[in-house]
Amino acid sequence: MKLKESILILQACEDIKESNLVFGTWGNISVLLENGDVLITPSGIPYDSMQEEDLVLCDMNGNVLSGGKNPSSELKMHTSIYKSRPDVKAIVHTHSMYASIASATLEEVPLLTEDLAMTIGGTLKVTNYKTAGTQELADEVVKALGNVNAVIISNHGQTAVGSTLDDAILAAIMCEKACMLYVKSLEINKSPRVLSEEEIEKMRNTYTNFYRKLRAFKE
Ligand SMILES: [Zn+2]
Repeated sequence: MKLKESILILQACEDIKESNLVFGTWGNISVLLENGDVLITPSGIPYDSMQEEDLVLCDMNGNVLSGGKNPSSELKMHTSIYKSRPDVKAIVHTHSMYASIASATLEEVPLLTEDLAMTIGGTLKVTNYKTAGTQELADEVVKALGNVNAVIISNHGQTAVGSTLDDAILAAIMCEKACMLYVKSLEINKSPRVLSEEEIEKMRNTYTNFYRKLRAFKE
């Protein structure tokens, strides 16, 4: 499948592996194409050996259009997010360590620092528990994600979104950082000082209107 997005996804697979966000083959990445179809990583193929032809092209209803492999088992989650968030063009789902800890122990992960406020843009919610791969899980993810750039999936992992694949990877990395900071802070003080939603919103806007534009300009 000769799509420029294929190269971006394969590069992203290397990036999330290097960032220690994935263990084994768990996790998946997708990109929304301009025509409304979804290019997604296959089910069960190790990131290191993934090839362009392993990626699967699907429509928004989950039908496979081309690609010889099965699409990720979380395809429903990806299409449901794209349907509910028109600003999202890329999604990264991983079972990173601290997000997984938070997913089994917390109801939400408040943000503690400005970089998290800028890139995640709101308190991280933990979904109600649903079985992996189901529409019920997809619905819970959409609900808990809201207009924030990442969400924790109960007893499972995290999903991060962005208007580009780079933004989605950054949100996934920052989501893991947010969980690590909060989990470790709780060990020191049961009530760490958290940023208010108002302050988070202010910094998210500063980032979107200034820093992110600066970064896009450099690219
Ligand atoms: Zn998963």
